[in-house]
Amino acid sequence: MTEKIHEALNKAKSMLESKDLDAHAVHLLMEHVTGKSGATLLADLREPLTPKQQTDFYNKTEQLLTGKPVQHIIGTEQFYGLSFEVNKNVLIPRPETEELVFGVLERCRDLFPEDGRVADIGTGSGAIAIAIKKEWPDAFVVATDISEPALEVAKRNAKHNDAKIEFRLGNITEPIEHEKWDVIISNPPYIAMEESKEMSRTVLEFEPHTALFADDDGLYFYKKLAKSLPPLMNKPALIAVEIGYQQGKAVSDLFQKAFPKDRVSVRKDLNGKDRMIFCEIRE
Ligand code: SAM
Ligand code: GLN
Repeated sequence: MTEKIHEALNKAKSMLESKDLDAHAVHLLMEHVTGKSGATLLADLREPLTPKQQTDFYNKTEQLLTGKPVQHIIGTEQFYGLSFEVNKNVLIPRPETEELVFGVLERCRDLFPEDGRVADIGTGSGAIAIAIKKEWPDAFVVATDISEPALEVAKRNAKHNDAKIEFRLGNITEPIEHEKWDVIISNPPYIAMEESKEMSRTVLEFEPHTALFADDDGLYFYKKLAKSLPPLMNKPALIAVEIGYQQGKAVSDLFQKAFPKDRVSVRKDLNGKDRMIFCEIRE
């Protein structure tokens, strides 16, 4: 006799909780193993697993117990209603970053009613660039990264999501220099090295450190951007960056100095933490 879905879920949850790991991941695993999504899975909680599903579910739960992110086990993450392949070479896109994309699109609707030139710096899985292109098809979108393996993943994601993006390899603004831009968007690495002590094993051992950590107390990339972006921006233009929750003042000061005549604002995420900076460059 195989177990019922709810029995297997509860067992796996207690295993994870006993190791202080995120128990919510077992639901995603079960959806993946059974092919049933959200509401259907809930309606079928009393159904038995097939022997193959049960073996598969517990094998994958074993992987979760090592701290491996569920997204690496199932191979995908959802972002802005789209599905993205993820692996050890890219940051798993985060819900906070969806809020950054939303904030950009909201502002661009008024600023650029037709087309626009957009660059996503440090694209990783391609999540930001691809979500923007899908929502704003007339935009010309460039996505850059210093990591070749990350760009390979991003290219597959663009193809899979049917989004036409130009990918460029290189350091920070270097691949987009000698051109002018309407929108620059970036979720750069922003975690200070010292903060690694407080990070979960799931992030620290499985996600790429080039995507997470930055020198200068995590401010390295914002300093570089504030320095090199002014000559690259059209008028009007928008710069939007994700930030760490304690970096609001430091990063807004940097951009306000670089763009003294323009409007720089700090915005909070849904958890009430400072998470984004928008710099609106005037006509
Ligand atoms: N944009 C993706 C997202 O929001 O999910 C990934 C963001 S991740 C925090 C930062 C990305 O910046 C990584 O993909 C990393 O490879 C890239 N990166 C790190 N150093 C870089 C550099 N010097 N120049 C360009 N990209 C860099
Ligand atoms: N938000 C990510 C985390 O907390 C960090 C992303 C970044 O450094 N840009 O793991």
